[in-house]
Amino acid sequence: MPERPATQGQLRLDGVAKSFGAAQALRDVTLAAAPGTFLVLLGPSGCGKSTLLRVLAGLEAPTAGQVFINGRDATGLPPASRGIAMVFQSYALFPHLSVAENIIFGLRARGVGRAERDARLSRTAQMMGLAGLLDRRPAQLSGGQQQRVALARAVVAEAPICLMDEPLSNLDAKLRAEMRREIRALQQRLGITMVYVTHDQAEAMSMADQVVLMRDGCVEQDATPAELYARPATTFAASFIGTPPMSLLRLVPGAHGAEVAGAPGLAVARIDAAGATLGIRPEEVAPTDGAGLPVRVLAAEFLGAETVLACAVGDGAEVMQARIPGHHALPAGTHLRLRLPPALHLFDAHTGRRLP
Ligand code: ATP
Repeated sequence: MPERPATQGQLRLDGVAKSFGAAQALRDVTLAAAPGTFLVLLGPSGCGKSTLLRVLAGLEAPTAGQVFINGRDATGLPPASRGIAMVFQSYALFPHLSVAENIIFGLRARGVGRAERDARLSRTAQMMGLAGLLDRRPAQLSGGQQQRVALARAVVAEAPICLMDEPLSNLDAKLRAEMRREIRALQQRLGITMVYVTHDQAEAMSMADQVVLMRDGCVEQDATPAELYARPATTFAASFIGTPPMSLLRLVPGAHGAEVAGAPGLAVARIDAAGATLGIRPEEVAPTDGAGLPVRVLAAEFLGAETVLACAVGDGAEVMQARIPGHHALPAGTHLRLRLPPALHLFDAHTGRRLP
């Protein structure tokens, strides 16, 4: 691989906004990715992920703000001059072209010469395990092989930055998991910067170096997967990540500190409880005979390695979930106490922001 300048693969967005008439798809997005980063844009449907990707690719012009690519202002550059490769959700291979022709289609369109095309095709096919399939038509390939051809089309461009918009949404669960690992390994081997759009939090957590969680056209949190999980910045981030997600319980003032609403007697935090929310990850609690949060089992779901309990807290004003290792036959109506972790997640109930 040839030596690359230090700015090669750098990405930066500065105050980017995009509206479509009255609809504001992006409000004020600022973010940066260092070369070689696997960045995932994560968020619910309609939060602006695809629009952000299209702005990066140059397929949409931002209404405000700037886009920097490889260290240079690229805000006004057309897509073909950005040095960016892209894989879309519908990877639509040309059915009448062979695998080889599909892979080099873009190179041909950009006027890359024959010798160079052949050299890149053979490198890419070798690396992606497609060398034996080059003469086939797409219809003669499995779903996974077709997906790999779509990836090869992007890889063959040998661009320092690659964008992918939900590339695995057409695949079944098993193949998805396989392709996740394959795409991650490929990105690392090539050392390229990846911007990958998904609404699947498990996909984001398993693939990313950096997760940009979006909501309503804004960046909600920009962090590593580990940090996003351990220290969600808002209740939105807390409830978007994890299966099942973090439980959020309303706190009220008690005799000795903040108590969970409906469960008096157990002070959980020495804070002003008026307007605070307690967050608990389901795996952070455990049944105890000692001091704990009184709960009543609503349902127990055995998943093999663990049992997931849905519980009503105290008098039932609040509901939470608990993940307990192993098999537990706990009929609905069973009363338990759950030991709380030493470090709690606390949020401002009005703004949703994490309390320090
Ligand atoms: P999904 O996961 O469903 O694809 P997304 O997070 O990618 O969603 P976008 O497709 O970026 O979201 O859309 C963000 C918002 O902008 C939505 O409200 C959408 O309706 C709106 N929008 C996107 N493109 C256009 C367009 N060309 N014209 C008008 N509104 C648009």
